[in-house]
Order: sequence, then C-alpha cells, then structure tokens
Amino acid sequence: MSWQQRIDEALSKQLFRNRWRKRYVVEENSTRLIKIENKTYINFSSNDYLGLNQHPLIIDSWKKGMHLMGVGAGSSGHITGFSRFHSDLEKQIAAWLGYSRAILFISGFAVNQAVISLLSKKNDRIIADKLIHASLLDAAIHSPAKLYRFKHNIIENLIFYLQYLCSGETLVVTEGIFSMDGDAAPLNKINQITKKNNSLLLVDDAHGIGIIGDKGRGSCWVHKIKPDLLTISFSKAFGISGAALLCNENIADYFLQFSRHLIYSTSIPPAQAFALKSALSLIQQGEYLRKCLDDNISYFKLGIKSTSWRFLDSNSAIQPIIIGDDNKAKDLSEKLASAGCWVNVIKPPTVPIGTTRLRITLTSVHTFKDIDVLLEVLNEAAN
Ligand SMILES: *Cc1c(COP(=O)(O)O)cnc(C)c1O
Repeated sequence: MSWQQRIDEALSKQLFRNRWRKRYVVEENSTRLIKIENKTYINFSSNDYLGLNQHPLIIDSWKKGMHLMGVGAGSSGHITGFSRFHSDLEKQIAAWLGYSRAILFISGFAVNQAVISLLSKKNDRIIADKLIHASLLDAAIHSPAKLYRFKHNIIENLIFYLQYLCSGETLVVTEGIFSMDGDAAPLNKINQITKKNNSLLLVDDAHGIGIIGDKGRGSCWVHKIKPDLLTISFSKAFGISGAALLCNENIADYFLQFSRHLIYSTSIPPAQAFALKSALSLIQQGEYLRKCLDDNISYFKLGIKSTSWRFLDSNSAIQPIIIGDDNKAKDLSEKLASAGCWVNVIKPPTVPIGTTRLRITLTSVHTFKDIDVLLEVLNEAAN
C-alpha cells in the first residue's frame, strides 16, 4: 500500500467509524467562560481546576521572568538551558512533596515517556492499570518490557500478575486520579503489594496534584505513600504546562545522565519556570480555591443523582456521564451547547468501547448557578 493509500484509508475509516476528531478555535478563555465561534459558553471541559489560567500574580511573574531571562531557554538543560528559575522550581517542588529530587520536563506526556522508556529493559515487565493515560501506555507498548494490564483498580488482579515469576525487574504503573473516570486508585494497597514484591512503583498524579491533600500535595500525600517515581503535570491545576519527575538522588542522577527526553530537548522557558513558582505558592495557599472546588463537586453530585443518567462514582473534579452510544453523546453535547454549556464528548479509543461519555469537569471558579444551568439541561434531556 502506498503512503497515499494508507493515509486515505485511515482517514476514511476514521470518518466512517464516526471517530473524527474536531478542534474548535477558542477566541477567549477565562476558564469559567469560553468563547467559540462567536458564542460564549460556560466551560465544563477545562482541566484548569483551580482557575489559575488568568491569575494576575502568575501573569506578572511570567512577564517579570521574561524581562529577566528572555522568552526561551535557548538550549537543553545540559547545555545552557537550566536557569536559576528552573533550579529554584525543582528545589521547591521536591521540598513541597517530600522528595530529595525533582526534575523538570516539558510536558506530562514527555515525562511519562521518559520514565518508562529509560527504565524498562528486555526481560522486564510492566504491570499497569487498564485505564492508564496514553502517554504511559504508548511508552509501555513500545518498550522492550512485557506489558500486563490489570483490571481497573482491582488489587487482586494486580496480585495475580505479580505472582508470576519474572526474570527481569517489575514496574507497577497507576494514576492517582484517573483522567477519564475521575476515580482514585487504592494507592496504599498498591504501594504495599508493590514493595512486598520488590518492584518499583510509578504513580502519575496529573489530576490529583494541587487539588487534594494538605497544601495541595496530591493523591500520594492523601494515601500517605511515597512511590519510587511520581510524575506530575503543570498543565492541570497549575494552569500552565510542563511537568516534573519526583524521585531519590540516585534515580535523579540516572535520568540526568541518560534520559534522552532531557538531554535532546530544550527546557521550558525560564520565564515559565518563574511563573510556575508563583502558581506553586498559590496552590500551597490554595485552601480556599480547593474548598470552592469541593463545594462545586458536592453540589453537582447532589444534582446529578436525581437524574437517570449513568454517572461514575467520582469524588474528583472529573464527573463523567456515560452515554455509550456515540451519536446520543453528540446529541446531548449539542443540546448542552445550545443552552450555553460547553462539554466535550470523549469517544473510543480514548475510553473503552461502549463507554463514550461527556467528560464534565468542574473548577473552583464555577458558580452554583453555572452548575444549575448544566443540571437543568441534563435533567430535561434525561426524559
Ligand atoms: C494530561 C495528562 C498527562 C499529560 O500531561 P501534559 O502535561 O498535558 O502533557 C499525563 N497523564 C495524565 C494522567 C494526564 O491526564
């Protein structure tokens, strides 16, 4: 098959299967409100859970950082791209989460790829929760290690895989809060069983960091565990982008010496690192923002329970409504849009077949009135 045929076939198949992914041009975005194609919507699809996107302190820091260090890093961290701001941020993140080291990466996707691709060698195995994020899954699939996927959050199934002998090392992978279901992993038990097995544990807490735990320290803090490897993203609660790996001195050195994702990629701009320091301090003092978010989550849950929609038992900002059928989900999303609520549909392969959903996300900047508008449409559409 020629390149042309291959591309044409893939595209027509995508269209035919109703899987076509569409992007929308956002004209304005205040996290709570979003303007698309000249219409303003209440945005229920943002991961900016604490509404920091427009925070004046962060914007000022970014500007100040640019005045001091310019707009870009200029090179990878191993050449001249590792600034005072990067170094300070790494130290502050490590201290905040109780690790000896933090290493910055350009994105959550990159850090997950880096961790799995550097650590897993031939004869090793990776045992991962069935619902881990694409960034982890892709790296695991392409690694020389053998991949096993245990049933979502089912500890017995993890134990089942662990009991088989493996000639190499074992890496167990899960998330703090799952990105598409919004539920939490039983981290304490997973940590116990992983340790008992002398395996390494990697937790991706993209959706827990900043949101739960004392001073926003995330899922591991809540479950009182300290996994060998913790990855966090700054693209959700921090409202910006970038990511970090938390680990001990030894593993940090290993990554700095050998991770191609660090060595051959330009660091995030120093000004961004400076802005992230402001976001970090807002998150550390963010009890009020977290309380607003919690109140919104409770309010939404109370309302959705009285409808007949199938919702998942999530206590997080991610509140999916499972529709199943792609077209029905699209209809509901359109109904919500015409009432002024923006909720994206999430289809397979992002989620398992038959679980097409509206992934509603709540933030601390939504009002009860906003949520009322959403619930009202959902309530009407349920009948
Ligand atoms: C968003 C997300 C990532 C990717 O993070 P980016 O910083 O956006 O690249 C990784 N893991 C999970 C669980 C996520 O939800």
